[in-house]
Amino acid sequence: MEFGKYDVVIAGAGMVGAAIGCALGRAGMRVALIDPAIPEPFVVDSAPDIRVSALSPASVSFLQQLGAWSYIEAMRLCPYRRMAVWEKLQEPLSKRQLSSRFNQTMFDCHEVGADELGFIVENRVTQLGLYEVLKTLSSVEMITPARPVDVHVSDNGVVVTLDNKQVVHGRLLIGADGANSFVRRFCGIGLSSEDYEQQALVATVEIPTGPLDITWQAFTPTGPLALLPLPACDGRNYASLVWYNHPENIKALMMLSGAEFLMEVRSHFPEELPEMLNLVERSSFPLTRRHASSYIKEGIALVGDAAHTINPLAGQGVNLGFQDASALSDIIVTAYRGDQNPGALAVLAQYEKERRPENVRMQRVMDLFYHLFSNEHLPLKIVRNIGLGLAGNFPYGRKKVMGYAMGLEKPLPWFLSK
Ligand SMILES: Cc1cc2nc3c(=O)[nH]c(=O)nc-3n(C[C@H](O)[C@H](O)[C@H](O)COP(=O)(O)OP(=O)(O)OC[C@H]3O[C@@H](n4cnc5c(N)ncnc54)[C@H](O)[C@@H]3O)c2cc1C
Repeated sequence: MEFGKYDVVIAGAGMVGAAIGCALGRAGMRVALIDPAIPEPFVVDSAPDIRVSALSPASVSFLQQLGAWSYIEAMRLCPYRRMAVWEKLQEPLSKRQLSSRFNQTMFDCHEVGADELGFIVENRVTQLGLYEVLKTLSSVEMITPARPVDVHVSDNGVVVTLDNKQVVHGRLLIGADGANSFVRRFCGIGLSSEDYEQQALVATVEIPTGPLDITWQAFTPTGPLALLPLPACDGRNYASLVWYNHPENIKALMMLSGAEFLMEVRSHFPEELPEMLNLVERSSFPLTRRHASSYIKEGIALVGDAAHTINPLAGQGVNLGFQDASALSDIIVTAYRGDQNPGALAVLAQYEKERRPENVRMQRVMDLFYHLFSNEHLPLKIVRNIGLGLAGNFPYGRKKVMGYAMGLEKPLPWFLSK
């Protein structure tokens, strides 16, 4: 390999960037993957990381195709087979609060003939699984710690200057560098963004028994409350708790001692949830919907959070990112094998055409959920209770929702698409 000369340069070796690196490397393309930081190695007995994602079966298939899933399985993960969804009922809809079973809806993977609805995996474990594949690919080079400081696109390709003074050449630069993408900003690609009125507090808690195989989500007027299963480690059981609320309430919750925080959890979360013994770690995240005005420019493509971020209430962000990675790598490899320039605008236009409508639809669906459920307007409460009741009582409705959560259905109510 000529040093510094690549087919594709990828800025960002997070879950999405590393996945594209694997896909292109497996097709024999010469790839440079640049990241300012690499994840810490996996330690078997450590408590689970705070950053986890619900990976859909569609994402799992993609990771299997890339060869990363066996490494991820060998580290740790937690399958979930059921999803319980509640709405917090108040007078006049119910005299009891969250303990009411009136509108609880249970989704079970066996109804759709699947072994699981998905897997909860620590983001670092997914990334490390992909890195194991990258290590086996001789045409992929990791350049780290480094970050791009300059990008120049010409007819001869893309020249990327790094902060360690190294200069790398490629025919295409992929921005997989997350929500605050340098590539997007430096290349002058516009962004529409809007902060949600809620933030997310994520906490790892120790629970007495497990591992669980169910996710719980309760909708309240101030935002959803969720509990996700985590793998058992060193004989202890864990779960990941997510509390969406107004930023000032999240700030107050972050300032409580561990014991005070768990008392607040007990008084707000459904009583059906397992006892929470101990707070291991917590962190808060602002929630912003972002969408790049374009995913492409001559010699440039954006993927994953660099291109779009959505409300994480249904855990779809990285699942969309993996779909971007799958679509873009397909298009690039086809161009490469057909002796076309993978950075040509005409080639990249296919990627934008394929992915933008899907990502827009998912953003709209998440916003619909957000507005529908974070609202005390009585007619809306009645509508969503009827909706949950219908979804819960009719096998067709339940199957539709599960197919959607598993990434097997088009992410759409048709009326949300143009
Ligand atoms: C609270 C919360 C819960 C979530 N839960 C889920 C879930 O259950 N399921 C789900 O699908 N999604 C979930 N998401 C979304 C998911 O975490 C993101 O969509 C996903 O991490 C995006 O991956 P990415 O690789 O595009 O970006 P990132 O994970 O942000 O990775 C970007 C990479 O780029 C590197 N980088 C940064 N700056 C530069 C630079 N200048 N140059 C080069 N490299 C750079 C970083 O070091 C990093 O390695 C959640 C998000 C939040 C906030």
